[in-house]
Amino acid sequence: MGAPEAFTRSTDIGHFIGGKPVPASSGRSQAVYNPATGAVSCQVQLASAEDVNAAVAAAAAAFPAWADTPPIRRARVLNNFLALLNQHRDTLAAMITAEHGKVFTDAQGEVTRGIEIVEFACGAPQLLKTDFTDQVSTGIDNWTLRQPLGVVAGITPFNFPCMVPMWMFPMALATGNTFVLKPSERDPSPSLFIAELLKQAGLPDGVFNVVQGDKLAVDTLLAHPDVKAVSFVGSTPIAQYIYETGAHHGKRVQALGGAKNHMVVMPDANLEQAVDALIGAAYGSAGERCMAISVAVLVGDVADKIVPMLAERAKTLKIKNGMELDAEMGPIVTREARDRIEGYIAAGVAEGATLVVDGRGTTVAGHEKGFWTGGTLFDHVTPAMRIYKEEIFGPVLACVRVKDFAEALDLVNAHEYGNGVACFTSDGQVAREFGRRVQVGMVGINVPIPVPMAWHGFGGWKKSLFGDMHAYGEEGVRFYTKQKSIMQRWSNSIAKGAEFVMPTAK
Ligand code: NAD
Repeated sequence: MGAPEAFTRSTDIGHFIGGKPVPASSGRSQAVYNPATGAVSCQVQLASAEDVNAAVAAAAAAFPAWADTPPIRRARVLNNFLALLNQHRDTLAAMITAEHGKVFTDAQGEVTRGIEIVEFACGAPQLLKTDFTDQVSTGIDNWTLRQPLGVVAGITPFNFPCMVPMWMFPMALATGNTFVLKPSERDPSPSLFIAELLKQAGLPDGVFNVVQGDKLAVDTLLAHPDVKAVSFVGSTPIAQYIYETGAHHGKRVQALGGAKNHMVVMPDANLEQAVDALIGAAYGSAGERCMAISVAVLVGDVADKIVPMLAERAKTLKIKNGMELDAEMGPIVTREARDRIEGYIAAGVAEGATLVVDGRGTTVAGHEKGFWTGGTLFDHVTPAMRIYKEEIFGPVLACVRVKDFAEALDLVNAHEYGNGVACFTSDGQVAREFGRRVQVGMVGINVPIPVPMAWHGFGGWKKSLFGDMHAYGEEGVRFYTKQKSIMQRWSNSIAKGAEFVMPTAK
């Protein structure tokens, strides 16, 4: 592959409402950075309550016709969108790298994982097929409908500005809802480009809207009576707030939160493979993935063998501007996030963990003002330490030493987060026990980042998800539809006279 074309934007980023770009009315804005250079690339407008109300009104106006559109015709629009996404995959990936910082090839992977949800949503006619029972009583049939909710909102994090919105809106649109997306204010460009592609695909105006903004926009969506459901992905404190506030306002809410994902390495694991897996899963995307591995649980004598191997690899990571094709790790999304991560490294040292590789103070030649931190490795981390308990969301891997499988499992299960987990072993019985007993929503056996495919659904347990339904897959169809049961009979099977007893099958 030749060098990809970098994305640059000099114009401000506004909203997309009722099928067209709309400037904000609030007069508030925030800088968007290129994290590799540290330079401000543009300003993103922050919505006022009026801007949000305008987006919800556009979505509400578009809802009746879109809900009545046959699923096969909705799916055709998504098919057109799919073709456009494939055509513009690299443009989207370059946009992600320019504002998030992750390396271009990783950004391409993000777009592909989003595309897979669109492919799944194109099966809407089949997904919306429901059940029918002939003759539940003589002359009476009973069947189920799944009907759209109305206007639904998506509030998304910075770390997957393309894929996470695509966990939501393809499913919501396919099932007949209209949508208002509030993307992260740190990397807002992909959402606007997606809105333009949907319009080109033939989506009617108002079915998909974007409002850029911060807490004010979120709070307006949460309280708006016309917003029937909210899908959220982000950090745990905000996920809990969204869940509680949305429920208070009578909305259906799925709120996916933060994570602290462990990878257990058993003494019988292939250690070379385990090292490759840990390096990729801890430092890929600079650790800014909700499925990143941030804790290595090293069983028995594994630590003495593996820590030097990990250290060697962490020290030699290729940290560069993500647009360079051999880059393995890019910058951190913002200066504040970089400082927070480096604060955690200092806390780990102060708490007595062994700092094996220190990523602080990393610089990249030619990009001295970028937001860099190198791969960091701690050994002898204990469950009492903050670097073990809290989500750092950066390229910091904490090694915890345990004596056996039972201790490893207890450790994982005692953690307050339960998003993803992995176990590396060559023992089928251990793998089976791990899969059955671990209290985590997504499990990998010799797979470090087990992000479920489009038709399986994504979601963690414990403080990693508030609500009962996972994102996308069949749970996505259920989340964005309400079930209706219809029972029907015609006059020749209606007996004469009022019935006062509970009806039973006759
Ligand atoms: P964040 O919680 O700061 O922001 C997420 C969204 O909430 C953004 O759109 C933001 O504008 C909005 N928001 C922020 N503060 C708010 C407030 N006080 N009130 C209302 N809305 C507010 O998260 P982030 O830093 O953008 O993303 C990183 C976090 O997301 C990490 O914790 C990561 O684990 C998590 N994440 C989880 C998953 C998952 O599937 N569980 C996936 C991706 C990211």
